[in-house]
Amino acid sequence: MAIEQTLSMIKPDGVQRGLIGEVIGRFEKAGLKIKAMKMLHLTLAQARAFYAVHRERPFYDSLTGFMSSGPIVAMILEGENAIQVNRDLMGATNYRQAAPGTIRADFAKEIEANIVHGSDSPETARTEIAFFFNELEKV
Ligand code: GDP
Repeated sequence: MAIEQTLSMIKPDGVQRGLIGEVIGRFEKAGLKIKAMKMLHLTLAQARAFYAVHRERPFYDSLTGFMSSGPIVAMILEGENAIQVNRDLMGATNYRQAAPGTIRADFAKEIEANIVHGSDSPETARTEIAFFFNELEKV
């Protein structure tokens, strides 16, 4: 299994609800290493750029408004099969379909405010890591 990096974000609802430590604890217990981390408040334009792949979706305005509504925590996670390991820890997009014990099943209350984001492929991981972090910010 290859060592991969993936981009994780704790969304505004996760930060606002005091779940930063809980989420990071789950990553570390699963063996994922935090290679970079920052808290920031995305502007609407930045949120729209990050989620540009969804620009045709009916929920794009709502999603990007939500994602720019408060601070988020962005992280680079590294480990064996990190992209899938992180997706498994997150659970399905819709918390009602998320497996028991996943972050979204345990904490999400809406399909949009679902606590965490995680890259879904090596290509998106590369793009999303570059969106948040420059070379000097990686250990
Ligand atoms: P993810 O990779 O599991 O985060 O899911 P997607 O890439 O499909 O969607 C990106 C984000 O858009 C999700 O995490 C949700 O925050 C939001 N989202 C997805 N589907 C819906 C929907 O049907 N309605 C709303 N309001 N938001 C959605």
